[in-house]
Amino acid sequence: MTKIGLEIHVALNTKTKLFCKDSTESNSPNTSVCPICLGYPGSKPQLNKKAIDLAIKAALMLNCKVRTKFWFDRKIYFYPDLAKNFQITQHEATIGYDGHFSIRNKEIRIREIHLEEDPAKIVYTGSIENSKYVLLDYNRSGVPLIEIVTEPDFSNSNEVAIFLRKLIRYLEYLDLFNSSREGAIRCDVNVSIEGGERVEVKNVSGIENIKRAIDYEILRQTTLLNKGEKIKRETRHFDETLGITIGLRSKETEEDYGYIYEPDIPIIKINEEKIEKLKNEVGELPDQRKERLVLQYKINNELATAIVSERDLADLFEYCCKEINDYQFVAKWIGNYLKKSLNWNNIKFSQSKVTKEKFLEFLKDIKNNKINEREAKELIKTFVDSGEIVRVESSKEDIQKVISEFYDEISPSLNEKGINHIIGKILKKINYKADPKELKKLIEKIKEEKSK
Ligand SMILES: [Zn+2]
Repeated sequence: MTKIGLEIHVALNTKTKLFCKDSTESNSPNTSVCPICLGYPGSKPQLNKKAIDLAIKAALMLNCKVRTKFWFDRKIYFYPDLAKNFQITQHEATIGYDGHFSIRNKEIRIREIHLEEDPAKIVYTGSIENSKYVLLDYNRSGVPLIEIVTEPDFSNSNEVAIFLRKLIRYLEYLDLFNSSREGAIRCDVNVSIEGGERVEVKNVSGIENIKRAIDYEILRQTTLLNKGEKIKRETRHFDETLGITIGLRSKETEEDYGYIYEPDIPIIKINEEKIEKLKNEVGELPDQRKERLVLQYKINNELATAIVSERDLADLFEYCCKEINDYQFVAKWIGNYLKKSLNWNNIKFSQSKVTKEKFLEFLKDIKNNKINEREAKELIKTFVDSGEIVRVESSKEDIQKVISEFYDEISPSLNEKGINHIIGKILKKINYKADPKELKKLIEKIKEEKSK
């Protein structure tokens, strides 16, 4: 039987680093750094309290028990990405433990979740094996990470991918994580096959690579076992280009690291009231909310899925449904057209300039035929970007000019269907920036003239 366990590192969505005031966003290497995250002697860490709140929320989301008293530890080892020669992490008293997160009908147990600082980013010139030197970018040094450790409850790479997708979806919904950040989710993957030792593949980023690394390990270990060879306990590296894992070192045991408690950060105590408050902020989770929307508003699953892809979008939906009784209509405009338009602009609803109030007005205008649907579908594209409905009606001259292009097609015998067909073509030519009723009048005028 194959057993797979994950140690998932997720960068928390904070503006500043875990122990200093440097920004977590930066463009050029080694610009968002200070004596603290560069590990200068004498510098003292200053805890970012926002990171604690976010980590507790993640623990609650994963159904973990939350400790009301915890602290930080130093994990001491030498590695070039670690300026201080130790990483501030949590070893003994992690923020959360003993949780679970389900995928389909399977429950994955969460052993623990803890908060730690990210080391610097190592950039290899070429592959890890033939790189002559490495470059270090300390912008990432000190970025808050949560590490989620699962029990070895996965049996194949597919389950892992489903789990990670759901995890990302949930973390983004709660605004704990921003997937657009580079290297924002990384995994250490433990794979063991019956009859062999556990092998750890370190630091694989991106779901596709994680899947490939697992599949490769299963194949490699099965082949070795079939040949009667032993699988030794070791740590391996996944080469993304070659799609294979390479042995790095025999797996370090806990004794290889010196753990001591971090003396510069006092013990953190969280009262029950605070946990209750954070629980309320976490609130209803995406899948629960989706089920409720389907039942309460009788909308289909597909639209409900799109609507709960973002918390603000789901809030917008329920806000609009308070005033517009046609839930199908609201669902279609938010789950379909608005969502598409957001994707097209590559932003979230929370990043768009559209307010709930303005969007409700927009829907009401469509509902009351003040804006026709075709025009609205055009307008929504710029609406999400600018936050304003910009209706530019074509000038009378422009409209006349386009109509004259269809002059020959407007025969005295033209019926209703024919007229609508021409209106459609004209609207398309002028990007729907005209009132179809006006166009109809103009066409009928020409028709009359011709029949005289
Ligand atoms: Zn710093």
